[in-house]
Amino acid sequence: MSDAIGAALAALWEQAQVRQAMLFLERDAGRTLEQQLALTSIEAPPFKEAARAAHFRDLLSQAGFPDARIDAEGNVLAVRKGAGAPASVLVLSAHLDSVFPEGTDVTIRQKDGRYYAPGIRDDTRGLAAVLAVARAFTDAQVQTVSDVWFVGTVGEEGLGNLRGVRALFRDHAGIAGFISVDGGDMGRVTLGATGSQRYRVTYRGPGGHSFGAFGVPSAAHAMGRAIAAIADLRTPSDPKTTFNVGRVRGGTGATAIAEEAQMDVDLRSNSAQELARTVASVLAMIEASARDENVRWGSNALTVEIQDLGARPAGNQEQSLPIVRATVAAVQSLGVESIQYGHSSTDCNVPISLGIPAIAIPGGGKSGGNHSLGEWYDPTQGHLGPQNAFLTVLLLAGLAGVTTPQLARPQ
Ligand SMILES: [Zn+2]
Repeated sequence: MSDAIGAALAALWEQAQVRQAMLFLERDAGRTLEQQLALTSIEAPPFKEAARAAHFRDLLSQAGFPDARIDAEGNVLAVRKGAGAPASVLVLSAHLDSVFPEGTDVTIRQKDGRYYAPGIRDDTRGLAAVLAVARAFTDAQVQTVSDVWFVGTVGEEGLGNLRGVRALFRDHAGIAGFISVDGGDMGRVTLGATGSQRYRVTYRGPGGHSFGAFGVPSAAHAMGRAIAAIADLRTPSDPKTTFNVGRVRGGTGATAIAEEAQMDVDLRSNSAQELARTVASVLAMIEASARDENVRWGSNALTVEIQDLGARPAGNQEQSLPIVRATVAAVQSLGVESIQYGHSSTDCNVPISLGIPAIAIPGGGKSGGNHSLGEWYDPTQGHLGPQNAFLTVLLLAGLAGVTTPQLARPQ
């Protein structure tokens, strides 16, 4: 590696302080896992992250950040000042919420070296990795050039609709780079933002007896027209673009013309343009389904209401971006050879859509069954996650007196 990032990484590895931090993170693996398990045991459904947030704040405080605080949106935030003036800000974060509804059994079960519990990886592993890196900064007394913020965000999953990270970027102008520890196995780098748009669509008609009132438009039939049309959509496989009618309900029984029918629709793409195109097609199909059902019966009694359940911006970044090259160099220096670049829907969607460099990186260990009750985590070689995050942060924020930050200050 003859480039600036390679040179900076080599310079970092020569520092006793950096090697001390790396050793610290290896020895800290047990505590990191312990905190991950403790955080998993505290439920954090969307919009109800407060208890987990309070515990995360306490752990950050113990990690050498007594000023760690919870902001108005519910995000947890701790600041480590850099030596640079004026300072730019690099965020290292993970999300506090889990996808699971309130009342989900979050008891952790252990079997064959794996830990099983809903949310055991997504994203308590990320939170634990952020805490480990914060401790390593304190232990090795690392002085960066840029400010480094250690953050836990609310509202990453589902209807949370990225509310935490949106608030972070709304309230703070100086953030130059964003790292989310929220990924799969080591070597994966999420550099693209899968955009999404979700709708709840409700059809309403006059209803009536299936025989006696025959001849009026049906909410169920109208929705069926829309689903049939959506099912026949053609979307590109590259950039990957998808559609799904994920939930349907309505009607009261076989002998009643459905008065109401409702469906939830999810549209996704790795390209903002393709997403917009698919959204336009689907909305037109929904409008047409109601119109056609009315025309079929010479009526105008059927209506359709489209409720916006939330959108996430799509965006792409080049592999040549410093933030991407920094984490690739960092993870390769830890002996991880194979790199997989991916697109996903994460907190990074917001900064990427704003033109601010952002990546999601793994927290270490192995995992599977994300977003399912069978979610599992295997802590083997788990320390590689925090080590990679630490080195990536140091490359991007710069070690005072040794390296310069590899992130440009936003103008
Ligand atoms: Zn996640």
